[in-house]
Amino acid sequence: MLARADGGLVRIRVPGGRIGAAALLAVAEAAQRWGSGIVEITGRANLQLRGVRSEAAADLAEALVGAGVSGGPHADRRRNVLLDPLGDLDPEAEDLGPLLGPLLAALDAEPRLDGLDEKFGFAVDGGGSFGLAGRRAAVVATPTRTRGVMAVCWAWADDGEEGSPVRPRRVARSELVDALVEAAVDSLGRRRSSVAVPAASADSVARVAGPLGAGAGWVGAMPTLGRADAGEMVTLATAARRRSGGLLRLTPWRGVVLPAVASDESGALLEELRAGGLVVDAADPASTVVACAGSRGCTSALTDAVGDARRVIAARREAGSRPAALHVSGCAKCCAQQAPLATTLVGSGPGRYDVYAGGGLRARSVRGAEAVAIAAGS
Ligand code: SF4
Repeated sequence: MLARADGGLVRIRVPGGRIGAAALLAVAEAAQRWGSGIVEITGRANLQLRGVRSEAAADLAEALVGAGVSGGPHADRRRNVLLDPLGDLDPEAEDLGPLLGPLLAALDAEPRLDGLDEKFGFAVDGGGSFGLAGRRAAVVATPTRTRGVMAVCWAWADDGEEGSPVRPRRVARSELVDALVEAAVDSLGRRRSSVAVPAASADSVARVAGPLGAGAGWVGAMPTLGRADAGEMVTLATAARRRSGGLLRLTPWRGVVLPAVASDESGALLEELRAGGLVVDAADPASTVVACAGSRGCTSALTDAVGDARRVIAARREAGSRPAALHVSGCAKCCAQQAPLATTLVGSGPGRYDVYAGGGLRARSVRGAEAVAIAAGS
């Protein structure tokens, strides 16, 4: 558990973003019982709880292991796998979902990986329309143009060396698990660095909204700013039980995909999710706004990033504006989003932001309300 301004922060690894309805409910219950009640979906398609009381850490960990949500600290450290969320549901993508089980088994079986860096992670990309382009990880696997052949790249700075040597290798898909484990072992004792999944197109690099609405065999939704309350979690889990075989996939766009949805059920499912407070429409201004915890959860924050992001969303909804990508950051570290977006508010002083738009600095050190007004109109 990590100490934060609003109490303990507990990260829950969800390998490949694949999670069942029962596990999601167990996380929601734990958030209500021991934390703030809010469950966050992270940019690595994991979950995290905030406001956890320090004396509750052991009970919480035990409950998560008991519910099958966590494999315990050793397993969780190894199982940091980000997987293309659509995979088999996207005709453009190579379905790498079946590799997840063998990869986790191989990682579990490798005792040397106990020494893995806490932030070590894999990005395994299918190359489809909602692929992982631009996402960064220690080890990246991505399809080549030759069907069945993957490019595996890994990067970290060797002690004493400048820069981050990238080690690309082409492997047959059947060799992929071995190559990924080998890369993990190779990382031991090295200083952490990362590589990015190659961009399929310029558009996919700037993508901030994940799959939303209904597609062929799937329905996508997201809680505003990736922060779900208990009611929204229950809505998602109930909907999954009724209409997608109890299965959900978390996305690195802080949303959720329900797979295997019958086409004649998708309309009713979308209505259920919308009524439960979730965003299901890519035209909703909430779909493209990203914010860090700001002063509600981070001692480094200079501004209320979450509150200001919500104010921009409300103003854009009222004005009926088109959703333009916006990042609201409580300080210059910009944890929530690495790629530049159309508009970025960067906390620059207590309650103040520098506003970046149109490729440059548009206003320096303006009050929060003014920054919100500029962002709402941009
Ligand atoms: S960007 Fe700054 S304020 Fe926001 S979470 Fe990161 S360190 Fe905290």
